[in-house]
Amino acid sequence: MGLPWDVYATPIAARKLARLGIEHGEVVLRPAFYRQLGASYGVVSRATCPLEGHDAPGAECSCGFYAVADETQLWRLGADEPELAVLDVELAGRIIEHDHGYRASDQTVRSVRFHGVCVRCGRQADVFGQRRFGGLVPACRRCARRALEPAAVADALGVPVELTTEPDNLVSQRVIETNGGVFVEEFTAPPGLGSKRGLRYRIALEPATPAHRA
Ligand SMILES: [Zn+2]
Ligand SMILES: [Zn+2]
Repeated sequence: MGLPWDVYATPIAARKLARLGIEHGEVVLRPAFYRQLGASYGVVSRATCPLEGHDAPGAECSCGFYAVADETQLWRLGADEPELAVLDVELAGRIIEHDHGYRASDQTVRSVRFHGVCVRCGRQADVFGQRRFGGLVPACRRCARRALEPAAVADALGVPVELTTEPDNLVSQRVIETNGGVFVEEFTAPPGLGSKRGLRYRIALEPATPAHRA
């Protein structure tokens, strides 16, 4: 009998859902659903199992970083809510392949994408607001408590943050652009996520401050 996992020569690109949080002053990623095993993690992370006695991912366990192969499979990971982010990730190390996705020992996050919707009022989100238990959620400036700019979140994580909106929502598009969003593409959400047209904007990292100024 072979090993329950495989090691791949090149990282596997995959998608997953997550939340943002702030812990000890750092922006972290958290599992999308609290029933999932595992604590918060950073952009580059190795999975550990909260149960004793094995390395993650365990064949008979549910530990390791979950992700699905592409957008059309995301609904399998749970509901699509404004406070959840879609992460583009690369999986490496030991990887267990399931019917529609993976559990991996090593994960690198490439980008963090949110609906551009304020979780409280439904208007365009242009910042992130802090919640109880260290949650960090998309919000409009009016609703946000202790607001963090999207560019500051991107900088803290070290990866771009993306916001989406609808093609006919010109107000939202202006709000995103005013906050540093750069248009990337128009897309169609997969059938499991409503099939709607959307626009994707990217808030890039602040360029590193040059060490030498003339
Ligand atoms: Zn385990
Ligand atoms: Zn709001």
